Amino acid sequence: MTRKILTFVILFFISSIDLYFPLFSYILNMKGVAMKANIHSFESFGTVDGPGIRFVIFFKGCPLRCQYCHNPDTWDRAEHHLFTIDELFEEIMKYKSYIVPDGGVTASGGEPLLQIEFIIALFERLKKFNIHTAVDTSGITFQPNSVESIRLHEKLAEVTDLFLLDIKHIDNEAHQRLTGVENKNILAFARFLSKHHKKIWIRHVLIPHITLDEAALIGLREFIQELDTVERVEVLPYHTLGTMKYKKMGLKYPLEGIQPPTREEVEYAKGLLEIKERKEEKK
Ligand code: SF4
Repeated sequence: MTRKILTFVILFFISSIDLYFPLFSYILNMKGVAMKANIHSFESFGTVDGPGIRFVIFFKGCPLRCQYCHNPDTWDRAEHHLFTIDELFEEIMKYKSYIVPDGGVTASGGEPLLQIEFIIALFERLKKFNIHTAVDTSGITFQPNSVESIRLHEKLAEVTDLFLLDIKHIDNEAHQRLTGVENKNILAFARFLSKHHKKIWIRHVLIPHITLDEAALIGLREFIQELDTVERVEVLPYHTLGTMKYKKMGLKYPLEGIQPPTREEVEYAKGLLEIKERKEEKK
């Protein structure tokens, strides 16, 4: 009996050793410690990027060029603020009493999954403390024909509680015009998440003349209905708050003259996406 208790205590100590001793953590997790993330900024009391109060990390770099993007300053990958896992973890833990138990940490950007290995290592650490993890992504990094890409995204899925997936346009050509890239891999990522039983919140920016389109919205609804794990669908009305950044950066604003949708247009889009009915179905 005493031997059993002793074995249990030793096993428990070994399994949680890196929680208590940074030196052991360093030895056990050399890769995570050596890695550095390129970070644009943080938001310590985010309320829209997942459940509860969130510590939101905006990672630097994005391969898309969405015409409505209000964060063009996150696009380039020039080094900004570099953080190791330990440094970022320490920063997050300052806010632990706000984000636990109902909130958590959200990796956003830019496109956070350009730094997927860092996010996996960070989330592995957070899960040891039962902290809820979410990724706000365009899904562009997923390559359904690459074994390595699937392996990495599976690893990510293991330590991520929620995916906020931005589907920019359901029509591939319109998606290319709007973002500069095809949507095939993005839709494949949505199917991959559903297959792996991962919770998804779909986000869709509503832009008059571009995504405010009956056929496209119905197409998006039909696509979403193919997925088994969508918990929520959000229509985000397009806004022009980012235009000043374009001016500051010397860039031409691509959607000059396009106004945000009216409340009626937002309701119309929600109706086509059957958002209320879907929420009730999932309760
Ligand atoms: S994916 Fe996000 S950060 Fe990248 S261009 Fe589009 S809106 Fe901007």
